[in-house]
Amino acid sequence: MTIEIPVPDDWHVHLRDDDMLDAVVGYTARRFRYAMVMPNLAAPITDVADAEAYRDRIVAAAPDDAVDFRPQMTLYCSSAVDLADLRAGIESGVIRAVKYYPAGATTNSAAGGTAMADFIDLYEVLADTDTRLLVHAESTDPSVDIFAREAAFIERELIPLAARLPELGITLEHVSTKAGIAFVDDHEQAGATVTPHHLAKERSDLLADGMRPDLYCKPVINSAEDRDALVAAATSGRADFFLGTDSAPHPTTAKYGPKAKAGVFNAAYGLEVVADVFDRAGAIDNLAAFTSTNGAACYGVEPSERRLRLEKSDIDADLATTFSTANGDEVVLFGADAATRWSVTLLD
Ligand SMILES: [Zn+2]
Repeated sequence: MTIEIPVPDDWHVHLRDDDMLDAVVGYTARRFRYAMVMPNLAAPITDVADAEAYRDRIVAAAPDDAVDFRPQMTLYCSSAVDLADLRAGIESGVIRAVKYYPAGATTNSAAGGTAMADFIDLYEVLADTDTRLLVHAESTDPSVDIFAREAAFIERELIPLAARLPELGITLEHVSTKAGIAFVDDHEQAGATVTPHHLAKERSDLLADGMRPDLYCKPVINSAEDRDALVAAATSGRADFFLGTDSAPHPTTAKYGPKAKAGVFNAAYGLEVVADVFDRAGAIDNLAAFTSTNGAACYGVEPSERRLRLEKSDIDADLATTFSTANGDEVVLFGADAATRWSVTLLD
């Protein structure tokens, strides 16, 4: 089987900085066109000048054979954001979106919010400029079960916010549960990114046969029933679901220890993983909508005119399962098994 799709976009990615940026950016830049770059560096990106400087570092680090790589910069929602600066950054085209993190929910989120309602003035700037709010929807209430945290956040924070600002475009990032799908179903203003790993795995894969730190991410991979709901939504072709890999590298030293960091590095083989999911669901004809056209439409850009060919065929090569940074940190690649079933060619 062979399918051609417009070059995909990745609407949620962590490119990090310094030697990790140097090591990972090529995986994204050779496969994807737009890349929505998350602002949770060790020092969060809260002003436009920092976002611009970060974009310059990303572009400088990208390889010469990048497809048509266009990093899209985001600001980190916090009280440090100056609203005039934000507005100017949006109007000049530097800032594509703002990301809300609940404080403490995931990597480098200590500077995040404790209540969504604390930033209404900021959201009004977004609504006014037709700019989307990207939301990490996960309750940090320690009394809420880890597998129920997305649903709790949606109920307590996101539904009231959506009702208060119906003109605000919201992207529910890395949707992980049927509660998240229901939120998108119920709200015209909302869309969602879905990751390769949340589509391909469920929590038994994470926990049943030895604990798998490489599958540990936030929000955690949830039940098989939730996974099935994500697959149904993503493969449906519906316009409000699109690919955001949430590719998030951590060195093995941070993954294989008493406290594994949350994040799956899937930029290398995430597309093959998604192709596998769509193929198994009998929905390969809807792959382009998910990877290449729905997200573009949501963010008001045309799909790429360049195309990429996926061919289902057994690949006999030894595919890399790790890479190393210049400093010697090793990172595990997610999805190498799927990559043995698909060959990917960028067309001219
Ligand atoms: Zn993320």
